[in-house]
Amino acid sequence: MRRMLFKSLVHGPLTEPAPDKDDAAMAELAAQVERAARRRLGRTLAIREVDAGSCNGCELEIHALNNVVYDLERFGFRFVASPRHADVLLVTGPVTANMREALERTYQATPHPKWVVAVGDCARDGGVFAGSYACVGGVSTVLPVDLHIRGCPPSPTALLKGLLALLDCAERGMPTALGAGRS
Ligand code: SF4
Repeated sequence: MRRMLFKSLVHGPLTEPAPDKDDAAMAELAAQVERAARRRLGRTLAIREVDAGSCNGCELEIHALNNVVYDLERFGFRFVASPRHADVLLVTGPVTANMREALERTYQATPHPKWVVAVGDCARDGGVFAGSYACVGGVSTVLPVDLHIRGCPPSPTALLKGLLALLDCAERGMPTALGAGRS
């Protein structure tokens, strides 16, 4: 125990260094998403996050969008508590058998226009949980997916790039570039 305490005092933390608080590229990316949302919707994006059975790794990255480093609310993004107020459903994890109906009902409760973004490798095809008796597969097994953002888990920057690609393609009436087309 004493050796462990000594080691933790001598060595620094093993986590990655925090991103720069004044990351100009990140701020520009977030501003681009906000402008694209205003052009398409006349306001900023309302996002509902749905955990369909993830390990919570993807949620940590999604939550990071609102922390003091990324602070997306300064660009007007809102994570909403009800799908009835959402434009985008960010769905994580493989869809578990227990969550299938809840996911379908969440989708039905979301007003048009709406987009479904499958976040992370598990949301694509079940990832490391593929084949489990408890999973029915990726998000596209249950819902029409407009965009898939790869990664295990995808970083906040990758999430923002995905949202920007989604809005750009929606504006031009094109299928999205990073994932399955809108059905
Ligand atoms: S993609 Fe990775 S981080 Fe996300 S739910 Fe799957 S295992 Fe967890």
